[in-house]
Amino acid sequence: MAAGQSLASLWGQSHPVDEPYANLSTNAMIPVSTTTEALPDDTGPAPAQPAIGASQLRTSQPVDSLDPGEDVDVANLTKAVDIGAKIAQQANVLRQALAAGAPQGVLFQGAAYVLPTTGRFTSGFGARWGVTHYGIDLANSIGTPIYAVTDGVVTESGPASGFGMWVVLQHPDGSHSVYGHINRSLVTVGEKVTAGEKIAEMGNRGQSTGPHLHFEIWTPGGQKINPIPWLAARGIVIPGTGDDGPSHD
Ligand SMILES: [Zn+2]
Repeated sequence: MAAGQSLASLWGQSHPVDEPYANLSTNAMIPVSTTTEALPDDTGPAPAQPAIGASQLRTSQPVDSLDPGEDVDVANLTKAVDIGAKIAQQANVLRQALAAGAPQGVLFQGAAYVLPTTGRFTSGFGARWGVTHYGIDLANSIGTPIYAVTDGVVTESGPASGFGMWVVLQHPDGSHSVYGHINRSLVTVGEKVTAGEKIAEMGNRGQSTGPHLHFEIWTPGGQKINPIPWLAARGIVIPGTGDDGPSHD
């Protein structure tokens, strides 16, 4: 089959769901409000700005004028279509998460991320009371929903020393997120979860002085890092962690 024919058949496919996201670049970061107004509407016009693969997708060349030898263009177009489909799928994940109550969500490099709970930022990462605090604390009432920060697989769920009860997720890049002091887990080990899925309820178990979520990020190598810049790099900013610095009350 000639490249032009492949291109024509690909372009001829109907992708009504993908269409609003066809122009998103792979590293597009789309801030989404809780009202979801910022997400492109399914029925709205496609955005006009060019992005990945746009020159191929939006070509005005007649199909019979394409060089049949340009197989690489077909490969790139196929890749662009795959990326567009993934972004559309992740945008749907995000839309569902926000509709279900997740407080803040973005698409970053084609993956959905959410703020893992709503609560008051009460403690940052680092030295605290003579020991290292390997996460951040977000305080709210017992039973407040806790959401998967991004897609992952449950690797721990249940009792944990110090944390009382915890959930640990492993993410596609090999990093882990940790949710400690929970009152109740809603997931089981081995279960796949999507970004913004409710995985636990906030609690006051273990070594805890009040109901809060203790949230950690472990790198693929197992190092516990400050979740605030990790989240910020993905477009998630925790209220109360601005320029005035974290509070330690
Ligand atoms: Zn903590």
